[in-house]
Amino acid sequence: MEARYKAILDNLLDGVYSTDLERTITYWNRAAERITGYSAQEVLGRHCHDNILVHVDGEGRNLCLGMCPMAHTMQDGQFRETLVYLKHKDGHRIPVVVRTVPLRDDGGNIIGGVEIFQDASESLTKEERLAILEGLAYVDQLTRVGNRRFLDDTLESILEDLKAHRWPFGVILFDIDRFKSVNDTYGHQLGDRVLQAVASTLSSSIRSFDAVARYGGEEFVVMLRNVDREKLKRDAERLRLLVSATWVTLGDREVNVTVSGGATMARPEDTPESLLDRADSLMYRSKEAGRNRITLG
Ligand code: GH3
Ligand code: MG
Ligand code: MG
Repeated sequence: MEARYKAILDNLLDGVYSTDLERTITYWNRAAERITGYSAQEVLGRHCHDNILVHVDGEGRNLCLGMCPMAHTMQDGQFRETLVYLKHKDGHRIPVVVRTVPLRDDGGNIIGGVEIFQDASESLTKEERLAILEGLAYVDQLTRVGNRRFLDDTLESILEDLKAHRWPFGVILFDIDRFKSVNDTYGHQLGDRVLQAVASTLSSSIRSFDAVARYGGEEFVVMLRNVDREKLKRDAERLRLLVSATWVTLGDREVNVTVSGGATMARPEDTPESLLDRADSLMYRSKEAGRNRITLG
């Protein structure tokens, strides 16, 4: 590689590496060394699936053994951008946004690929951070908040704390109002963006030790630790208002939704199911009473 190009690539903040068609690593810049802990010397000439980076996706699936983004890009020539977790030399997982582009010869034939990756730890939701620590199978792929399994496991664990130490907590179950008509009017894709926006509003408006999970299609559960009924009610109202002030744009139109919520304090005799059932019945009372409101029970 020409020295001046190497100097530019080595001074980027993003990790950059290239491979040939067999996915043998042919170039590895300094940022790649810094982000992964592996020096160029350690990786050049090896395959990216040689147990070096072991990219996994949000579900914990090993991408290097099958079709990783790079392999897909070398096959179809398409640019890709994905969030994956790579393994640092020390063993911990790092979330990175990966962009892959094909390398072509003068005749336009694909002769390899380039992967550019950026440390994404700063841009992660709390639930994603937790998921990384817990082993990766806790994130809802669409909305990046906790998934159903995260919800069940977290409820189990905070119910134990309630029973053993009397640490109180409350939950709020939110269901988006008339969401079917959002899909019908603007399309499913816009519906997905609304779900992402609502999830992101909820996730960024709670304290660091609270959590949010996607309970069903357009239902979210917020778990608030160390609150009393008053605080639970205030937070539920605050989150309801914040969602109603969340917009997604489609061309020059702005789309927004409201939520109906059911809020309840956990009881020592609760199971995750009984607690969620109660929150669900309370949420239905909010629907019956006209939607865009909270029922506390
Ligand atoms: P209500 O106020 O009574 O809750 O009305 P609703 O239309 O929200 O209720 P309903 O349960 O009838 O519809 C929920 C809709 O959510 C149906 C389904 O198409 C949509 N939905 C569920 N999951 C997703 C998803 O992942 N993406 C999109 N775009 N829509 C989804
Ligand atoms: Mg629903
Ligand atoms: Mg709904």
